Amino acid sequence: MQSSTAKIPESSGNVPVDYSCVLCGAGPAGMGFLFYAFKSGKLAEVARNGLLIIDKRVSLGAGKLGDYVNVTGNSVAKTFLACLEHERFDDVFGDLREYNALHKKMAADPDGAPLLTEVGELLTLAAERLIAHLVEHSDVDVLRGHEIDVIRRGKDGRFEIAHHDTRKPSVRRLVTSDTVVMNLGGTQRVEEVDELCRTLDIPSPGNGVMIRTSDDLLRLTKKQLVDTFAPVFAPAAARRTNRITVIGGSHSAFTMTERLATDLGGVGLDEISIIHRSPIRLFFETEDEARAWGYTVNPASDICPVTKRVNRSSGLRYRAFEIACSVMSHGRVAGTKPRIELIDAASGEAEQGRAAIRLTHSCAVIHGAGYGPNMSALVDHRGVTIPLQFCQGGIEVDRFGRPLDITGKAIRGLFTFGLGAGFRPDPEIGSEAAFTGRIYGVWIFHHDIGGRILEGVLKALAEKAVMRETEMISTADDDGNASSRPTRNRIDQRR
Ligand SMILES: Cc1cc2nc3c(=O)[nH]c(=O)nc-3n(C[C@H](O)[C@H](O)[C@H](O)COP(=O)(O)OP(=O)(O)OC[C@H]3O[C@@H](n4cnc5c(N)ncnc54)[C@H](O)[C@@H]3O)c2cc1C
Repeated sequence: MQSSTAKIPESSGNVPVDYSCVLCGAGPAGMGFLFYAFKSGKLAEVARNGLLIIDKRVSLGAGKLGDYVNVTGNSVAKTFLACLEHERFDDVFGDLREYNALHKKMAADPDGAPLLTEVGELLTLAAERLIAHLVEHSDVDVLRGHEIDVIRRGKDGRFEIAHHDTRKPSVRRLVTSDTVVMNLGGTQRVEEVDELCRTLDIPSPGNGVMIRTSDDLLRLTKKQLVDTFAPVFAPAAARRTNRITVIGGSHSAFTMTERLATDLGGVGLDEISIIHRSPIRLFFETEDEARAWGYTVNPASDICPVTKRVNRSSGLRYRAFEIACSVMSHGRVAGTKPRIELIDAASGEAEQGRAAIRLTHSCAVIHGAGYGPNMSALVDHRGVTIPLQFCQGGIEVDRFGRPLDITGKAIRGLFTFGLGAGFRPDPEIGSEAAFTGRIYGVWIFHHDIGGRILEGVLKALAEKAVMRETEMISTADDDGNASSRPTRNRIDQRR
């Protein structure tokens, strides 16, 4: 939340633009919900009084996933392709299977993990085709290149969404809606490094040490990465170890480590320290496979009861798995120069001391330890921030993805489940008991989670319809004519 109070601008048109659902953010999470609503045949119900898609990007569907450079996915190709498979999609983008080179490439290697740039390209293609279809055949509008500033929940439980065209930041506009599906992605902030160090009980990096986030760095090309770090490396003659410390132990941290070792090993980087606070976990399809690798499995805490996979949510997969194994057995990413050490700072005083020394002797520190939510300012009817419950990796949500306020009450009509928010494991969704974080991934947005959000949105719209009918009966004139809702203005979608 950016501010405790926010001023909502007046609607700049003559009548407020009014919808039954506004999709704030059309990345993998938001689009997962939309794909699900379409394939279940329920889109018309969601868009009964119009659906609006708002995103600050011009090209929709991939969110940040397609921005990560030279990063291999932690899902295999068939997992992404499964999101595009349904008979209802045949008329919309079924032809992608026949003519699209990327689709063919992924289909030819279904068990290989593709590059995220390629996944992003395919998701964008499918999303844009679906959006074009919806705009043509359903009551759906799109605002591309529009940034959401504030979401206000009125006394009547409806929402006002203030947004602006990124090319004209001074002109703010308003739309109103019965429901909001808000997934604006996650954030990592350099200021969080002090807090991470406090949690690990180690001193913060000293003044003058470069601090960056893995989310920013993973989107840089090799040249940009070199330009960023080369100035902080001491020349070989200075006989100082050029060390970068990465804080975190999950997919982002190991992916970052590979990029650093590969791209900076030739320009002065000598050593990488990875400081984490729980054991590094590996993913296996089955318990037998894990045992064959000599990996110790605790059936009670490590196996997902739904899929029987080992460390389904917390385990490193595919390329991150290989990097972790190479680091654990050889202290290097195979084929690269820098030495790499793992430090479990939560495993005792000796390791904590080692972490503190490495941090003090690092020329740069990278935050690679999870994401917080990127919520637009959510305020009540007076413009005062609605404080939300935040715990272990995200905003607390109920079974429909409705965020909980600090009194534990769900914000009715609002839904959030992407990066920085998200569902915890439960008996239906599954996951290993040891996993305490949030579950997010393209496949689950398009399946189980998409289904729960759809159920929640339809319930909320049904409640609103009943409320409206009751209001209309009570405001009927002497002849029994109820005043009906004004006709909605259509958004100008040119850009
Ligand atoms: C490094 C990394 C690798 C990952 N790899 C995989 C993987 O291989 N497989 C997998 O299934 N999952 C993966 N994930 C997890 C997850 O699927 C992705 O993070 C995914 O991008 C999350 O989607 P999202 O929609 O929540 O957020 P984002 O992708 O960040 O999308 C948010 C959308 O909201 C828009 N937006 C943001 N702020 C505003 C605003 N104020 N106004 C209007 N629009 C706004 C953005 O433009 C964007 O389109 C990975 C995550 C990370 C961090």
